[in-house]
Amino acid sequence: ARFMLFNLDRLIDDVLQLLRPKSILMGQELTAIPPEDAVIIEADAEQLKQVLINLVQNGLEALQGKGEVRVSWKQLQDRISIRVEDNGSGIQPEHMSRIFDPFFTTKGDGTGMGLSICHRIISDHGGQVHVTSQPGRGTVFSLHLPVRQSNP
Ligand code: ADP
Ligand code: MG
Repeated sequence: ARFMLFNLDRLIDDVLQLLRPKSILMGQELTAIPPEDAVIIEADAEQLKQVLINLVQNGLEALQGKGEVRVSWKQLQDRISIRVEDNGSGIQPEHMSRIFDPFFTTKGDGTGMGLSICHRIISDHGGQVHVTSQPGRGTVFSLHLPVRQSNP
C-alpha cells in the first residue's frame, strides 16, 4: 500500500461527486454528513477511495428505486470512523456470514468482489469493517481506521 496524508473530507466528496449523477437520475438521495473539523488521515488514498465507492454503490443498489445513502465520518482520538448507511433492502440474516466472501453475490449481474476487496484493504490498514442490517429497513457499514499508520 502507498500510505500518504490527505484530507478525508475531500476524498469522500470526490466519491460522492462521482456517484451523484446516476443517483440523481434514479431519484435517490446521496448525503454527506461531515464533522465540524477537517479529518486528516494517513492511508492509501486510491484504495480507500475504492472501498468507499464499493460501499456507496452497494448502498445505492440496495435502494431498488428511491431512498437514501448517507455517509458520515468523524475522528475519535487516534481512530477514524466512517459510516455508510442506506434505507434499502437490508441483508438476509442467512447471507450475513457470506457477504465478505469473494464471488458471493445476490445480484444477477454482480461480481461479488466488492466487499471482499473492501475487507482486504481495511485489514491492510489495521482497521475493521462492521455491518448491521435489518431486512426491509436498511444496512449500516462502519469502518474503523487508525488515523496514522505506525512506521516500523
Ligand atoms: P456485488 O455488489 O457484486 O453483489 P459485493 O461484494 O459488493 O458484490 O456484495 C456482496 C453481496 O452483499 C451483495 O450481492 C448483496 O447481497 C450484499 N450487500 C452488500 N451491501 C449491501 C447493502 N448495502 N444492502 C443490502 N445488501 C448488500
Ligand atoms: Mg458491490
